[in-house]
Amino acid sequence: MTTASQSLTTLHESLLSERAAGIKQSAVRDVFELSLDPSLVSLAGGNPFLQLLPLEKIGEMAQRIIVEQGPEALQYGSGLGTPELRAQIIDVMAAEGITNVGIEDVVVTNGSQSAQDMACKVFCNPGDTVLCEDPTYVGALNTFEAYQVTARPVGTDENGLIPSALRERIAELRAAGERIKFLYTIPNFNNPSGITLAAERRQEIVEICREAGILILEDNPYGMLRYEGTPAPTLRSLDPENVIYMGSFSKIFAPGLRIGWAAVPTHLFRRFYLAGEAVALCPPTLNQMIISAYLNEHDWKGQISKYNDLYRSRRDAMLAALAKYLPAGVTHTHPEGGFFIWLTLPEGIDTYALLQQGVKAGVIFIPGAAFSPSGEASNKLRLAFCSVDEETIAEGVRRLSLLLEQAIAS
Ligand code: PMP
Repeated sequence: MTTASQSLTTLHESLLSERAAGIKQSAVRDVFELSLDPSLVSLAGGNPFLQLLPLEKIGEMAQRIIVEQGPEALQYGSGLGTPELRAQIIDVMAAEGITNVGIEDVVVTNGSQSAQDMACKVFCNPGDTVLCEDPTYVGALNTFEAYQVTARPVGTDENGLIPSALRERIAELRAAGERIKFLYTIPNFNNPSGITLAAERRQEIVEICREAGILILEDNPYGMLRYEGTPAPTLRSLDPENVIYMGSFSKIFAPGLRIGWAAVPTHLFRRFYLAGEAVALCPPTLNQMIISAYLNEHDWKGQISKYNDLYRSRRDAMLAALAKYLPAGVTHTHPEGGFFIWLTLPEGIDTYALLQQGVKAGVIFIPGAAFSPSGEASNKLRLAFCSVDEETIAEGVRRLSLLLEQAIAS
């Protein structure tokens, strides 16, 4: 670098916002490049297996839309999303058992990620507090950091958030003078833990937040990817006035289209979608029209069943490999759906260091600390079973287990 460009770098650094200092690359992105190396088994990325989609049919739909409706499809659109897709989202939510929602409650977003950003923009000042599970979705933690919001973990067990822990945490944080804005929760098949909030806890969680005057952000991109057990009611259906529900086409269709939605209580609706307009003006019209055509012309529910059969086999392959190869002292979750299994290793094993060894041994995963607002998950890691076949999963778990044996022995 020349002296002139060095001094410009220094100058520009001095112009950065305080917020920018908190914006980090997610650990998932860190290993993205690595996951492209074909000699490595990647159990890292939570990428849906898009090869199962009817790609030719989708290609024909996209072409037809551009040729026949180009000036509309390639034009700016409403910040709310297209009326057709908003109406179809009501059907998608109904398929998840959410029936107390109307088109006037729905705003289309650039994925659930941008709905999280909109929620922070609308509700959070720097220094505010939000509550969440520990571990939780790394993308949400990054958004909270970007808004200079403190994410405070609430106690969980194998059945998700513990209602009494939530009550205590709210009291304790308020006594310390913290301003709590919302509870961000992934009730179904949490990313990264795979844990689901038990049905019998849901009403109580909703009541605690209502009584305490705290909003709920319910993030539910995996809800329809269930491989066993019965679906529990969404928090949105239990308390529509106090829950902002975030849905996504990323896992049930295609993440590259970057389309999700939020169902927002009526009194907050205008503020919410104006926050979205301030970022992106409108969600991409063409992509919304492709999704509308897909929902109209393809058996999308049948497609989700196909996905569920595939992901169930992959989950089972991973559970079987874990049972076969994992050394004693390592425990893991048993997800009923979604993409992820969460491993807990003996205290003192640092999974960031283990990942470096994993790269040499030909297997990669995501170290747990990335997902932890308390930073206390250094001996944990996330495995994804969604994007590789059963044989590769077994080989990856075998390689990982060898590493774990060595780490435990040393
Ligand atoms: N929330 C959770 C829990 C996720 O796992 C993800 C994606 N991995 C997202 C939100 C982001 O979804 P989208 O693609 O809709 O932005």
